[in-house]
Amino acid sequence: MLVMNSPETTLRALIEESDNIVFFGGAGVSTESGIPDFRSEEGMFETKKTFGYWPEVLLSHRFFLNNPEIFFKYYRKNLIHSSAEPNAAHRALARLENVGKLKAVVTQNIDGLHQRAGSRNVLELHGSAARNYCMECRAVYELSFMVEASGIPRCLQCGGMVRPDVVLYEEGVDEQILKESIRFISAADVLIVGGTSLNVYPAAGLIRHYAGKKLVLINKGETAYDTRANLRIQGSIGKILGAVVERAT
Ligand code: ZN
Repeated sequence: MLVMNSPETTLRALIEESDNIVFFGGAGVSTESGIPDFRSEEGMFETKKTFGYWPEVLLSHRFFLNNPEIFFKYYRKNLIHSSAEPNAAHRALARLENVGKLKAVVTQNIDGLHQRAGSRNVLELHGSAARNYCMECRAVYELSFMVEASGIPRCLQCGGMVRPDVVLYEEGVDEQILKESIRFISAADVLIVGGTSLNVYPAAGLIRHYAGKKLVLINKGETAYDTRANLRIQGSIGKILGAVVERAT
Protein backbone atom coordinates (compact mmCIF):
# COMPACT_ATOMS: atom_id res chain seq x y z
CA MET A 1 0.00 0.00 0.00
CA LEU A 2 0.90 3.64 -0.46
CA VAL A 3 1.69 4.19 3.21
CA MET A 4 4.68 1.86 3.05
CA ASN A 5 6.55 4.19 0.72
CA SER A 6 8.17 7.55 1.28
CA PRO A 7 5.92 10.48 0.25
CA GLU A 8 8.24 11.23 -2.68
CA THR A 9 8.04 7.64 -3.95
CA THR A 10 4.26 7.75 -3.66
CA LEU A 11 4.12 11.03 -5.58
CA ARG A 12 6.36 9.59 -8.27
CA ALA A 13 4.02 6.61 -8.66
CA LEU A 14 0.99 8.90 -8.89
CA ILE A 15 2.70 10.92 -11.62
CA GLU A 16 3.84 7.83 -13.51
CA GLU A 17 0.33 6.38 -13.53
CA SER A 18 -1.56 9.51 -14.54
CA ASP A 19 -2.08 11.50 -17.69
CA ASN A 20 -4.53 13.95 -16.11
CA ILE A 21 -2.60 15.93 -13.53
CA VAL A 22 -3.53 19.49 -12.63
CA PHE A 23 -1.28 21.78 -10.60
CA PHE A 24 -2.54 24.56 -8.39
CA GLY A 25 0.16 26.94 -7.17
CA GLY A 26 0.58 29.88 -4.84
CA ALA A 27 3.21 32.39 -3.81
CA GLY A 28 5.58 29.67 -2.54
CA VAL A 29 6.25 28.64 -6.13
CA SER A 30 7.56 32.12 -6.90
CA THR A 31 9.47 32.73 -3.66
CA GLU A 32 11.92 30.04 -4.78
CA SER A 33 12.69 32.30 -7.76
CA GLY A 34 13.54 35.09 -5.33
CA ILE A 35 10.14 36.81 -5.50
CA PRO A 36 9.09 37.71 -1.95
CA ASP A 37 5.48 37.08 -0.92
CA PHE A 38 3.91 40.48 -0.25
CA ARG A 39 1.18 38.73 1.76
CA SER A 40 3.66 37.18 4.18
CA GLU A 41 3.82 38.67 7.65
CA GLU A 42 7.25 40.13 6.91
CA GLY A 43 6.09 41.59 3.60
CA MET A 44 3.03 43.16 5.17
CA PHE A 45 4.84 44.87 8.01
CA GLU A 46 7.64 46.08 5.76
CA THR A 47 5.05 47.66 3.48
CA LYS A 48 3.21 49.32 6.33
CA LYS A 49 6.49 50.73 7.61
CA THR A 50 7.70 52.03 4.23
CA PHE A 51 4.45 53.17 2.64
CA GLY A 52 2.15 53.76 5.61
CA TYR A 53 -0.48 51.34 4.31
CA TRP A 54 -1.08 47.58 4.32
CA PRO A 55 -0.66 45.79 0.96
CA GLU A 56 -4.41 45.09 0.84
CA VAL A 57 -5.04 48.84 0.87
CA LEU A 58 -2.25 49.76 -1.54
CA LEU A 59 -3.37 47.09 -3.99
CA SER A 60 -7.06 47.92 -3.86
CA HIS A 61 -8.98 49.27 -6.82
CA ARG A 62 -10.04 52.40 -4.96
CA PHE A 63 -6.52 53.21 -3.75
CA PHE A 64 -5.14 52.68 -7.25
CA LEU A 65 -7.59 55.22 -8.73
CA ASN A 66 -7.18 57.76 -5.94
CA ASN A 67 -3.40 57.50 -5.39
CA PRO A 68 -1.85 56.14 -8.59
CA GLU A 69 1.59 57.68 -7.80
CA ILE A 70 1.89 55.74 -4.54
CA PHE A 71 0.35 52.64 -6.10
CA PHE A 72 2.91 52.53 -8.89
CA LYS A 73 5.78 53.25 -6.53
CA TYR A 74 4.78 50.25 -4.42
CA TYR A 75 3.86 48.10 -7.39
CA ARG A 76 7.14 48.68 -9.19
CA LYS A 77 9.20 48.04 -6.09
CA ASN A 78 7.35 44.99 -4.78
CA LEU A 79 5.40 43.27 -7.53
CA ILE A 80 7.62 43.58 -10.58
CA HIS A 81 10.61 41.26 -10.52
CA SER A 82 11.95 41.45 -14.04
CA SER A 83 15.22 39.65 -13.27
CA ALA A 84 13.55 36.58 -11.69
CA GLU A 85 14.05 33.28 -13.51
CA PRO A 86 11.92 30.10 -13.51
CA ASN A 87 13.00 27.55 -10.87
CA ALA A 88 12.97 23.75 -10.69
CA ALA A 89 9.23 23.65 -9.92
CA HIS A 90 8.34 25.69 -13.03
CA ARG A 91 10.60 23.50 -15.16
CA ALA A 92 9.21 20.23 -13.76
CA LEU A 93 5.62 21.32 -14.48
CA ALA A 94 6.48 22.40 -18.02
CA ARG A 95 8.06 19.01 -18.56
CA LEU A 96 4.99 17.16 -17.27
CA GLU A 97 2.79 19.11 -19.68
CA ASN A 98 5.22 18.44 -22.48
CA VAL A 99 5.08 14.67 -22.01
CA GLY A 100 1.27 14.75 -21.89
CA LYS A 101 0.78 14.13 -18.18
CA LEU A 102 -0.24 17.58 -16.97
CA LYS A 103 -3.34 19.31 -18.33
CA ALA A 104 -3.18 22.73 -16.68
CA VAL A 105 -1.37 24.97 -14.25
CA VAL A 106 -3.69 27.15 -12.19
CA THR A 107 -1.72 29.90 -10.46
CA GLN A 108 -2.24 32.80 -8.11
CA ASN A 109 1.06 34.32 -9.21
CA ILE A 110 1.35 37.19 -11.67
CA ASP A 111 4.99 36.83 -12.71
CA GLY A 112 4.57 34.77 -15.89
CA LEU A 113 7.36 32.37 -14.88
CA HIS A 114 5.38 29.24 -15.80
CA GLN A 115 5.12 30.40 -19.41
CA ARG A 116 8.78 31.34 -19.45
CA ALA A 117 9.63 27.79 -18.31
CA GLY A 118 7.62 26.40 -21.24
CA SER A 119 4.14 25.77 -19.79
CA ARG A 120 1.36 26.50 -22.28
CA ASN A 121 -1.93 26.01 -20.49
CA VAL A 122 -1.53 28.44 -17.60
CA LEU A 123 -4.63 29.84 -15.91
CA GLU A 124 -3.66 33.03 -14.11
CA LEU A 125 -6.31 33.72 -11.49
CA HIS A 126 -4.85 37.09 -10.54
CA GLY A 127 -3.76 38.16 -14.01
CA SER A 128 -0.24 38.89 -15.16
CA ALA A 129 2.27 41.69 -14.69
CA ALA A 130 3.57 40.80 -18.15
CA ARG A 131 0.42 42.27 -19.71
CA ASN A 132 -0.40 45.96 -19.41
CA TYR A 133 -2.92 48.18 -21.12
CA CYS A 134 -4.02 51.80 -21.49
CA MET A 135 -7.21 52.43 -19.53
CA GLU A 136 -8.41 54.90 -22.19
CA CYS A 137 -7.56 53.42 -25.61
CA ARG A 138 -6.64 49.83 -24.62
CA ALA A 139 -3.22 49.96 -26.29
CA VAL A 140 -1.07 47.15 -24.86
CA TYR A 141 2.34 47.48 -23.28
CA GLU A 142 5.05 45.05 -22.21
CA LEU A 143 6.55 44.68 -18.78
CA SER A 144 9.66 46.64 -19.77
CA PHE A 145 7.48 49.71 -20.44
CA MET A 146 6.21 49.60 -16.85
CA VAL A 147 9.71 49.10 -15.48
CA GLU A 148 11.17 52.00 -17.40
CA ALA A 149 8.31 54.47 -16.89
CA SER A 150 8.81 56.80 -13.96
CA GLY A 151 5.86 57.82 -11.83
CA ILE A 152 2.52 57.01 -13.43
CA PRO A 153 2.96 55.10 -16.71
CA ARG A 154 1.25 57.07 -19.49
CA CYS A 155 0.09 55.76 -22.87
CA LEU A 156 2.34 56.89 -25.73
CA GLN A 157 -0.69 57.25 -27.99
CA CYS A 158 -3.30 59.03 -25.87
CA GLY A 159 -1.71 59.87 -22.52
CA GLY A 160 -4.11 57.62 -20.60
CA MET A 161 -2.95 55.72 -17.56
CA VAL A 162 -1.41 52.34 -18.33
CA ARG A 163 -2.26 49.67 -15.78
CA PRO A 164 -1.16 46.09 -15.27
CA ASP A 165 -3.63 43.35 -16.19
CA VAL A 166 -3.64 42.09 -12.62
CA VAL A 167 -6.61 41.62 -10.34
CA LEU A 168 -6.56 44.22 -7.57
CA TYR A 169 -8.42 43.91 -4.28
CA GLU A 170 -12.10 44.89 -4.81
CA GLU A 171 -11.82 43.72 -8.42
CA GLY A 172 -13.35 40.45 -9.53
CA VAL A 173 -11.43 37.45 -10.81
CA ASP A 174 -11.93 36.88 -14.56
CA GLU A 175 -15.03 34.67 -14.83
CA GLN A 176 -13.69 32.78 -17.83
CA ILE A 177 -10.40 31.94 -16.10
CA LEU A 178 -12.30 30.86 -12.99
CA LYS A 179 -14.63 28.64 -15.03
CA GLU A 180 -11.71 27.04 -16.89
CA SER A 181 -9.86 26.44 -13.61
CA ILE A 182 -12.89 24.73 -12.10
CA ARG A 183 -13.30 22.62 -15.23
CA PHE A 184 -9.71 21.34 -15.07
CA ILE A 185 -9.69 20.86 -11.30
CA SER A 186 -13.00 18.98 -11.18
CA ALA A 187 -11.91 16.67 -14.02
CA ALA A 188 -8.40 16.07 -12.64
CA ASP A 189 -7.16 12.63 -11.69
CA VAL A 190 -4.25 13.92 -9.60
CA LEU A 191 -4.36 17.42 -8.10
CA ILE A 192 -1.03 18.75 -6.87
CA VAL A 193 -1.30 21.88 -4.74
CA GLY A 194 1.96 23.66 -4.04
CA GLY A 195 3.35 26.74 -2.37
CA THR A 196 0.13 27.94 -0.83
CA SER A 197 -1.46 27.79 2.60
CA LEU A 198 -4.84 27.83 0.79
CA ASN A 199 -6.02 30.79 2.82
CA VAL A 200 -6.23 33.33 0.01
CA TYR A 201 -9.42 33.73 -2.01
CA PRO A 202 -10.31 32.00 -4.31
CA ALA A 203 -7.82 29.19 -3.63
CA ALA A 204 -9.65 27.18 -0.98
CA GLY A 205 -12.95 27.40 -2.83
CA LEU A 206 -11.37 26.10 -6.02
CA ILE A 207 -9.80 23.06 -4.37
CA ARG A 208 -13.25 22.01 -3.20
CA HIS A 209 -14.14 21.22 -6.82
CA TYR A 210 -11.63 18.39 -6.90
CA ALA A 211 -13.53 15.10 -6.76
CA GLY A 212 -10.66 12.58 -6.80
CA LYS A 213 -8.71 10.80 -4.10
CA LYS A 214 -5.23 11.88 -5.12
CA LEU A 215 -4.89 15.31 -3.57
CA VAL A 216 -1.21 16.09 -3.02
CA LEU A 217 -0.14 19.06 -0.91
CA ILE A 218 3.42 20.32 -1.09
CA ASN A 219 4.16 23.28 1.15
CA LYS A 220 6.76 24.44 3.66
CA GLY A 221 4.21 25.29 6.33
CA GLU A 222 0.79 24.08 7.32
CA THR A 223 -2.21 24.53 5.06
CA ALA A 224 -5.94 24.80 5.60
CA TYR A 225 -6.36 21.46 3.80
CA ASP A 226 -3.76 19.29 5.54
CA THR A 227 -6.31 16.91 7.02
CA ARG A 228 -8.04 16.39 3.68
CA ALA A 229 -4.91 15.70 1.64
CA ASN A 230 -4.21 12.15 0.49
CA LEU A 231 -0.51 12.91 0.40
CA ARG A 232 1.24 15.66 2.27
CA ILE A 233 4.86 16.60 1.64
CA GLN A 234 6.51 19.32 3.67
CA GLY A 235 9.38 21.15 2.02
CA SER A 236 10.61 23.07 -0.99
CA ILE A 237 8.32 22.73 -3.99
CA GLY A 238 11.23 23.12 -6.40
CA LYS A 239 13.36 20.47 -4.73
CA ILE A 240 10.53 17.97 -4.35
CA LEU A 241 8.90 18.37 -7.78
CA GLY A 242 12.26 18.70 -9.49
CA ALA A 243 13.58 15.42 -8.07
CA VAL A 244 10.33 13.45 -8.43
CA VAL A 245 9.63 14.52 -12.01
CA GLU A 246 13.18 13.81 -13.09
CA ARG A 247 12.80 10.20 -11.97
CA ALA A 248 9.19 9.76 -13.15
CA THR A 249 9.46 10.95 -16.74
ZN1 ZN B 1 -4.01 55.09 -24.74
